[in-house]
Amino acid sequence: MALLELQNVHVALEDGTEIVKGVDLTVDTDEVHAIMGPNGSGKSTLSYAIAGHPAYAVTEGRILLDGEDVTNAGADERAQRGLFLAFQYPHAIPGVRVTDFLRTAINAIRKSRAGGVADPIAVKDFREELFKQMDRLKVSRELASRYLNDGFSGGEKKRVEILQMAMLKPRMAVLDETDSGLDIDALKVVAGGVKELVGPEMGALVITHYKRILDYIEPDHVHVFVDGRIVESGGPELADRLEESGYEQWGAANGNGGTGGAQ
Ligand code: ADP
Ligand code: MG
Repeated sequence: MALLELQNVHVALEDGTEIVKGVDLTVDTDEVHAIMGPNGSGKSTLSYAIAGHPAYAVTEGRILLDGEDVTNAGADERAQRGLFLAFQYPHAIPGVRVTDFLRTAINAIRKSRAGGVADPIAVKDFREELFKQMDRLKVSRELASRYLNDGFSGGEKKRVEILQMAMLKPRMAVLDETDSGLDIDALKVVAGGVKELVGPEMGALVITHYKRILDYIEPDHVHVFVDGRIVESGGPELADRLEESGYEQWGAANGNGGTGGAQ
């Protein structure tokens, strides 16, 4: 049984515009899949739909997690089932410290795994794990005591997203443009963090429009995404080909433009 399975997934915006036009994709544990596509092709729309964002309706097809149909499940339920989405544009939550946010999120997942009975993590265990992961991901202690994403630089936001992932230990991680705004050092830390977590317990879907992060994450499968569809799938060599000749060969307007897609 696959970890994440998308079957002919179509996604529309609230005004009815169809953005994702039939995606089939299977991701298993111990696998890293990359989706590469130009700006505006619908990559973030697809990741929101996978995560269960209410503004992105699946109008056709199914999303399965561990073989269970979650197409109509809420974002919370999906998270409790082990899905994690690192957003392209993480929101600030003024008044909530990083540490408190992480503990609340962990306890919500533990509660659901315990069949709805509260089973909070011991404070000592939480701190030990937090400090271990922070050292590994080079997140400063100071950052953890600040309000979530409030005044964080792009690089700090992404590191904290990866810290969340390391703490929550999801089964399936979807990373939407986690590379944007990162310098090379931060990129290496983030990619290393993802690579260490992917294994028998976790699979990952890395969404990007630059090849850069893939040099460090080394995906097993690469999918080219143009105008709401996967137009070609292959191994890591597909990313090299894209780097050289861009998305035009699949009918995209250009390789990295702002409006993008073949609309
Ligand atoms: P990508 O992540 O590949 O750059 P997006 O999924 O962000 O692409 O966007 C695909 C298309 O859907 C774009 O034309 C974008 O303007 C539109 N779109 C996405 N989300 C919204 C939204 N919430 N409201 C209006 N338009 C949206
Ligand atoms: Mg996007």
